[in-house]
Amino acid sequence: TFDEAYQNALEYFCGDELAAKVWAGKYALKDSQGNIYEASPEDMHHRIASEVARIEQKYPNPMSEEELFALFDHFKYIVPQGSPMTGIGNNHQVASLSNCFVIGLDGPADSYGAVFMIDEEQVQLMKRRGGVGHDLSHIRPCGSPVNNSALTSTGIVPFMERYSNSTREVAQDGRRGALMLTINIKHPDSEAFIDAKMVEGKVTGANVSVKITDEFMHAAVSGSMYEQQYPVDSALPSFRKEVNAKDLWKKIIHNAWKSAEPGVLFWDTILKESLPDCYDDLGFRTVATNPCGEIPLCPYDSCRLLAINLYSYVKNPFTPEAEFDFDLFKDHVMKAQRIMDDIIDLESEKIETIIKKIEEDPESDEIKLREYNLWKKIQRKTMLGRRTGVGITAEGDMLAAMGLRYGTDEATDFAVEVQKTLCLSAYRSSVNLAKERGAFEIFDYKREVENPFMHRIMQADPELYEDMKKHGRRNIACLTIAPTGSTSLMTQTTSGIEPVFMPVYKRRRKVNPNDKNVTVDFVDEVGDSFEEYIVFHHKFVTWMEAKGYDPAKKYTQEEIDELVSKSPYHKATSNDIDWLAKVRMQGKIQKWVDHSISVTINLPNNVTEDLVADLYVEAWRSGCKGCTVYRDGSRAGVLIGTKPKE
Ligand code: UDP
Repeated sequence: TFDEAYQNALEYFCGDELAAKVWAGKYALKDSQGNIYEASPEDMHHRIASEVARIEQKYPNPMSEEELFALFDHFKYIVPQGSPMTGIGNNHQVASLSNCFVIGLDGPADSYGAVFMIDEEQVQLMKRRGGVGHDLSHIRPCGSPVNNSALTSTGIVPFMERYSNSTREVAQDGRRGALMLTINIKHPDSEAFIDAKMVEGKVTGANVSVKITDEFMHAAVSGSMYEQQYPVDSALPSFRKEVNAKDLWKKIIHNAWKSAEPGVLFWDTILKESLPDCYDDLGFRTVATNPCGEIPLCPYDSCRLLAINLYSYVKNPFTPEAEFDFDLFKDHVMKAQRIMDDIIDLESEKIETIIKKIEEDPESDEIKLREYNLWKKIQRKTMLGRRTGVGITAEGDMLAAMGLRYGTDEATDFAVEVQKTLCLSAYRSSVNLAKERGAFEIFDYKREVENPFMHRIMQADPELYEDMKKHGRRNIACLTIAPTGSTSLMTQTTSGIEPVFMPVYKRRRKVNPNDKNVTVDFVDEVGDSFEEYIVFHHKFVTWMEAKGYDPAKKYTQEEIDELVSKSPYHKATSNDIDWLAKVRMQGKIQKWVDHSISVTINLPNNVTEDLVADLYVEAWRSGCKGCTVYRDGSRAGVLIGTKPKE
């Protein structure tokens, strides 16, 4: 039962209720009646290790199940995220192992038929668990003539609402589907897109991001006029509109300041740096991203994610002898890349199962055929590029454990060194895999010679590049940095490349006010009562122990402040780091990530819109591929500070 799994997990996670709840609720193997088949995360790691080992057996020099288990055990080194974690070896659900999908029709797709088809495909993918993204720039702008009874078109906003509502209807075992909608800033309806979520209760089921071009940014910064057109990419547009770029930019900033959306995607940087786009004529033209933005994708491609727990490579953490074990790290990155390649084969088996299930479905042949074709398209693209998403988590804790203060030049240089090492090791592994298993089908080094990302690899490791020229590589693109939302609860660390949110915070627990021995510290707007309790960030406890402070003692607010000020987390939390330094760090790390990085800049409530504007411009100039901000209090949150923000 859930309770048994929860109790075991509570012991496994040393009393961490949140980790235990998330594990038992999200990841433990269960059937559709809710019966749980895994007693603890250890069982789950055996399930994943045995499945990956089965694939390894098909190829030369297989890794053993024991070796794989040791990499997964206790979420210490390599953590498959979300869909792979629940889906691998799970015969109770017919689900996909992909965390990310993008869809979209090739060629002109501006018709009601196409809008509904995308809606249907979106739901078909979501019901098999992945997050989905698609771009709306192909839809004709509001007021354009149409040859039917409407006479003029409604524009994109009603369709945003449609896609958002479909997403909200799809349940994924305790969570809703996740959707990313994008539009090119060149589209005449982009302003309406930017405003769509500002109306309370509208488009609540989708994340929205604007694809910003360099041309637009130059116009916005210099304050000149900017021409929008439809079709966006056409040399002979049927519709043109002049807009004041600065005003439109201000609107993006204002809305992001006010409600955390839209996010921005620096689209020219994404395209210019993209290796898959070297094969754009073969179906790899990037059009949108997955829901959190870390994987830009072409239509009908998919990606699976895995995070390497950086904290675990620090020997003697929080001591003067702290040292990053680069040799162990390189070895594990190579194995992580290999595991990801194995997971593509596991995904292929899953898709075969999905297809078989469709074939056995008694529904009408026509509906079956549409679903069948969708998965066939996904299958083809997935196997053609063999894309992987090897990422990291615990950057913030790793830096603190090394005695480096997040946001300082020294910390940034070190973070870049780690990411560069990761990048070169993952590409080395993908080249080795090509020798043993074959390169991705359409690999052609000549297509990639102008690519700036490939140039960096060429310069950093000429031998690796020569080997790649000769043998190819197994995977069209390899790397990412995802938000690692629930992953970081399992690793009990900071998430992705984010700094610690708060080293010490309060959490609220719902209580019955009639019970004895409860204190009611907070009553919400519907009258529910909550008790508040202090929680130390896990690795802050490790720091306390290293310095001889007792984490079990009750501390006053002053004592807590004093402790924090002595720790490497001082002035290094998401609320008090130098945000511009963080954006620059993201840009420098991005140089060694072939996909993208999901980042949210957390800001205090009282920051100005000008600051948000500065951050976005700096993100563009620093070579970031995207950026979102979250201003404290601009949406309902769960964590609260131990004292009011000044
Ligand atoms: N994702 C999703 N629904 C969710 C959480 C995640 O579809 O509720 C997908 C989405 O594509 C997102 C990606 O998984 O961008 C990675 O999210 P995250 O790193 O937070 O995954 P987790 O750590 O929760 O596995």
